[in-house]
Amino acid sequence: MTSCAVIGAGPVGTSMALALLRQGFEVTLYEREASLPADPRAATLQPPTLEMLSELGTGAEIIAKGLKAPVFQFRDRASDEILAEYDYGRLEGATPYPFAVQCEQFKVADTNARAIEALRPGTLRLATEVTGFTQDAQGVTLTARGPDGSHKQRVDYLVGCDGGRSATRKTLGIAFEGFTYEERFLVLTTPRDFFDRGFRVRNYVLDPTQWCALFKVPHEGPPGLWRIVFPAPAADAGLDPTSDDYVRAQIQGLDSTLDLPDIAHRNIYAVNQRVAAAFRKGRVFLAGDAAHVNNPLGGLGMNSGIHDAINLAEKLVAARAAPGDAEALFEAYDRERRGMADRYVQAQTIQNKKRLEARTPEARRAAAEELRATCADPERHRAWVMNASLIAGLAALSDTERSPAR
Ligand SMILES: Cc1cc2nc3c(=O)[nH]c(=O)nc-3n(C[C@H](O)[C@H](O)[C@H](O)COP(=O)(O)OP(=O)(O)OC[C@H]3O[C@@H](n4cnc5c(N)ncnc54)[C@H](O)[C@@H]3O)c2cc1C
Repeated sequence: MTSCAVIGAGPVGTSMALALLRQGFEVTLYEREASLPADPRAATLQPPTLEMLSELGTGAEIIAKGLKAPVFQFRDRASDEILAEYDYGRLEGATPYPFAVQCEQFKVADTNARAIEALRPGTLRLATEVTGFTQDAQGVTLTARGPDGSHKQRVDYLVGCDGGRSATRKTLGIAFEGFTYEERFLVLTTPRDFFDRGFRVRNYVLDPTQWCALFKVPHEGPPGLWRIVFPAPAADAGLDPTSDDYVRAQIQGLDSTLDLPDIAHRNIYAVNQRVAAAFRKGRVFLAGDAAHVNNPLGGLGMNSGIHDAINLAEKLVAARAAPGDAEALFEAYDRERRGMADRYVQAQTIQNKKRLEARTPEARRAAAEELRATCADPERHRAWVMNASLIAGLAALSDTERSPAR
């Protein structure tokens, strides 16, 4: 039986492990925390990801736990004008799921993890950290430290789904190329409802200094919570963005009736745009945040990571059937998924941020006009949602696959 160890039980590692288990691989999924991390992070699932999770058998449960978000709104903060509403309903025919789903990443990982344990109990090893590995032409030997002490394991393949600070990537000596934004992002959570002001489940608000992303998450069931992402000053700017003054200024710019008691959580984090110089070395692979990180505007990080996992699982299954093709298949994983990270996810998320924060009056007018015009034209509207949902990028990837020039 072909064996694979997966490091990290986030949404990407659990998708990876579940996909391989379902194909009859022997899988060990290592997670250093004693329970799956539940901090507030990604929450948007795009239609192709819903299709992949449904193939894994967890999609229906995850959709049932989430909030359907067919419409994606843009508005101007100063005038409060709704500039555009993009409708995923226009994806009809391109996907069985013409909507996004808001479901916290912890619930995605947890649903996958329970499916893994139902399929093969003992696959998920919590509180067990992978501390190192070496590889040769035949396999990988890793060391892990858990509740019963340290042990070694020999496997055919190793996949690092161990997040943005990936020790797997560092051990392989692979550069993480890109940049870190000077400003940081402030994430606030509030139970206050925004539907009464005409907001949708997913919204982006344009402003040169106080732009924001506003979206609803199911939390513990109705009525759910709203998360707001604001820009925050750099760490060395001498201003604490989680301070009452800073938080009050941000929320009251968005809604003058909001005040500090409405805010349940405040989190601040640094934002990177980086892609690993390689997604594979020998028998060791990178997937998810270990391979690429981006700003959260557009809700693409968790999605593209799950797409890595599904793509890699397909390659490993194909290599098991045709070992002579393994090298070409693994090179294809690197080329396809690194290309997707560079050409689509990085480009799109950088563009999403630029649109929200357009600084000069001319740039703001142009951004607003572009949103209105694209939304009003049926063909451009559909092309826009095909792109935003990652369907267009995946279709371009399969066209390349079919191209004889490849
Ligand atoms: C603060 C924050 C907020 C974010 N907000 C958004 C958002 O709003 N929208 C969005 O699209 N994206 C957001 N992201 C990005 C999104 O969360 C990631 O794209 C997504 O989590 C990637 O999942 P992953 O499984 O690759 O990595 P992770 O979810 O980071 O999982 C990695 C796992 O590996 C485990 N691990 C690490 N090292 C080891 C080891 N040596 N041994 C065993 N286990 C190990 C960790 O404990 C962790 O559970 C955010 C990220 C951060 C950090």
